[in-house]
Amino acid sequence: VTDHKRRRTILIVDDIPENVSVLAVPLAEDYEVLFALNGEDALWQVEQESVDLILLDVMMPDMDGYEVCQRLKLRESTQSIPVIFITAKDDVEDEEKGLAVGAVDYITKPFRLPIVKARVKTHLDLKAKTDLLMRLANVDGLTGIPNRRSFDIGLEKEWRRAARGPTRLSLLLLDIDHFKLYNDHYGHVQGDLCLKQVAACLAESVARAGDQVARYGGEEFAVILPSTDREGAHEVAFKILHGIRDLNLEHAASPTAACVTISVGIASALPDGSITQENLITSTDEALYMAKHRGRNQVSFSSFPVASS
Ligand SMILES: [Mg+2]
Repeated sequence: VTDHKRRRTILIVDDIPENVSVLAVPLAEDYEVLFALNGEDALWQVEQESVDLILLDVMMPDMDGYEVCQRLKLRESTQSIPVIFITAKDDVEDEEKGLAVGAVDYITKPFRLPIVKARVKTHLDLKAKTDLLMRLANVDGLTGIPNRRSFDIGLEKEWRRAARGPTRLSLLLLDIDHFKLYNDHYGHVQGDLCLKQVAACLAESVARAGDQVARYGGEEFAVILPSTDREGAHEVAFKILHGIRDLNLEHAASPTAACVTISVGIASALPDGSITQENLITSTDEALYMAKHRGRNQVSFSSFPVASS
């Protein structure tokens, strides 16, 4: 929602300042406009600012537009920014090359400003729709936190990052105690409300940048904790356990406590090649099972892996 309120930002890249002004002045009526006079500066600016679209000159000294575009498409943080080439060249092969390196459109000079504006708007609107779909595809509809798909992608990515370190990666799986009894007693509408409150509390408890919460399925949630050892994971798990308890959501049907509680399983791994990401999930799940088995409303550690931290 906030994305729609924000004025969208366009980066104009051209080695000739007059060419920048010709586009920047009229576009500034509707957008935030940034500019760069060379490729290096363009690549630097997209890392500093949130850029929604790039108008890119092909012919520039040092690094030409094709190379700038290729580099943008290689970087995960910038690859989804639409690039429109603007150039005096009108050779068909150049246009093909532009599209081949990942540009969404190609405008040749001399151009008519209303056409440029219309194309810019079209590609910004497409980008907004794509972004929205990407967000929806990764968010759990009920609770608003990342979904299972997002968890799978996130864990895969963090596992690879941890292996490169190598650094320790920890995982929490947590489950609402006696949730079936809760639903039976209070009904599914109240059950959904309970899931939402637990999810919100979870998202709030995990404040460190890089940590990822997700709804794992049903009444089960997961937290990915990059660069976190057993002690660090334990701390987060307890914070969540107490946070949920402090919500003090009445659970009259629970044999464990008078309010909603959770059980948490923790596993921590150093991805050194001897174990897989599936091993980590399995052992976290076993730890969760132990927490349940030992009476719920508690945190349990996986004994795996024994590797030194
Ligand atoms: Mg030029």
